[in-house]
Amino acid sequence: MMYGAIEAGGTKFVCAVSDENLNILERESIKTTVPAETMNLVFKFFDKFKLEAIGVGSFGPIDINKKSKTYGYITNTPKKGWANYDFVGAIKERYNIPVGFTTDVNAAALGELKKGAAVGLDSCVYLTVGTGIGGGAVVNGKLLEGYGHPEMGHILVRKHEADKYEGNCPFHKTCLEGLAAGPAIEARWGKKGYDLADKEEVWEMEAYYIAQGLMTYTLTLSPERIVLGGGVMKQLQLFPLIRKELEKLMAKYVSMPNLDEYIVPPALGDNAGITGCLLLAMETK
Ligand code: ADP
Ligand code: ZN
Repeated sequence: MMYGAIEAGGTKFVCAVSDENLNILERESIKTTVPAETMNLVFKFFDKFKLEAIGVGSFGPIDINKKSKTYGYITNTPKKGWANYDFVGAIKERYNIPVGFTTDVNAAALGELKKGAAVGLDSCVYLTVGTGIGGGAVVNGKLLEGYGHPEMGHILVRKHEADKYEGNCPFHKTCLEGLAAGPAIEARWGKKGYDLADKEEVWEMEAYYIAQGLMTYTLTLSPERIVLGGGVMKQLQLFPLIRKELEKLMAKYVSMPNLDEYIVPPALGDNAGITGCLLLAMETK
């Protein structure tokens, strides 16, 4: 049996087909332009296979509420042509097979839980710190979905006392994403993250913000593990700084797992999302 997966990102769509044991038979990366163009290439890729189901992990916000009239749509993205795009509808129209639909980060959380850094557990949070900040979660073995999907990057945080940067989230200015995603680092310090590797104050401030996010997720979801991915987290010196800051913030209020095991990089690297999409396809009836 064959399953399809689409990890739909703002820069590229990664498409893959696997067998039921997750062996990847073929994979292709397609540039994200406008829906007609990108989806044409996506369909050209999948047309070669007889698939049981397709799992989609998409950039958002998306409508994952099955009771909604616009279920399966990408909703209000600024990306040209994709706002109000009926993503699931387009795939169903083409193939008439079950389509699983969730966020890119929910898919990554599922991938890491079943095949990566959180194998053997029932819950984890996956947070990406990149162009934006987004998080997904698996709780009791199921994707965390409700009226909508989690938007973990847009939580409010307390500002660092030495931080003069005003924040750049177009909706909330100084939410976590507005203060700590890659573009905020660049705007605050005048250089891209990878050119600031040796500047301790940069990563201490970054850890100060990310740890606040992790405190909120810890206190609201009680995950067994938190996986941190995305371009900014390639600065591995962040991991011990975040653990230390989180420990300070939590102030021993609740007991937590060993922090070295609690806060970890993705074991699947850049394949977390596509792996999760394949797993989602296999779960979708
Ligand atoms: P996206 O979020 O667009 O999917 P990434 O996760 O690669 O892509 O995030 C891109 C952001 O991460 C950019 O703001 C970039 O400056 C930053 N970034 C990428 N690599 C590094 C690195 N090695 N160190 C610090 N920041 C990085
Ligand atoms: Zn925001």
